[in-house]
Amino acid sequence: MSEHDQDWKLCLTPDQFRVMREHGTEAPFTSPLNDEKRAGVFVCAGCGSELFSSQAKYDSGSGWPSFFQPLDEKILGTTTDFKLLYPRVEVHCATCRGHLGHVFNDGPPPTGLRYCINGVALRFLPRDGLAND
Ligand SMILES: [Zn+2]
Repeated sequence: MSEHDQDWKLCLTPDQFRVMREHGTEAPFTSPLNDEKRAGVFVCAGCGSELFSSQAKYDSGSGWPSFFQPLDEKILGTTTDFKLLYPRVEVHCATCRGHLGHVFNDGPPPTGLRYCINGVALRFLPRDGLAND
């Protein structure tokens, strides 16, 4: 384990560390952010970068918080993940390189993408005083 990983252990919970640094996956339907419907912004649990708007969140039924687009494509990085029999596109925070989840091609319009994100890799910041419209 590198010194850098030790730093991560100081600021992440064990669940966050397992997902974000060891590419784990949280159990479906366990994240309170799954049912988060307030207006606001979802930020990286590792570094606080703003990743997704509540306006891009939708109920995919998968059991993980799902979004059809990031706030800015440059804030995310991707790699191809061959952990399962078929390749998947892995998604991480471009700022801190923390693993977030995967992106699939079965999302809703307008992008047709489904960013399937581990809730423990996100923090939600509600936008006070504004309706989600
Ligand atoms: Zn980050």
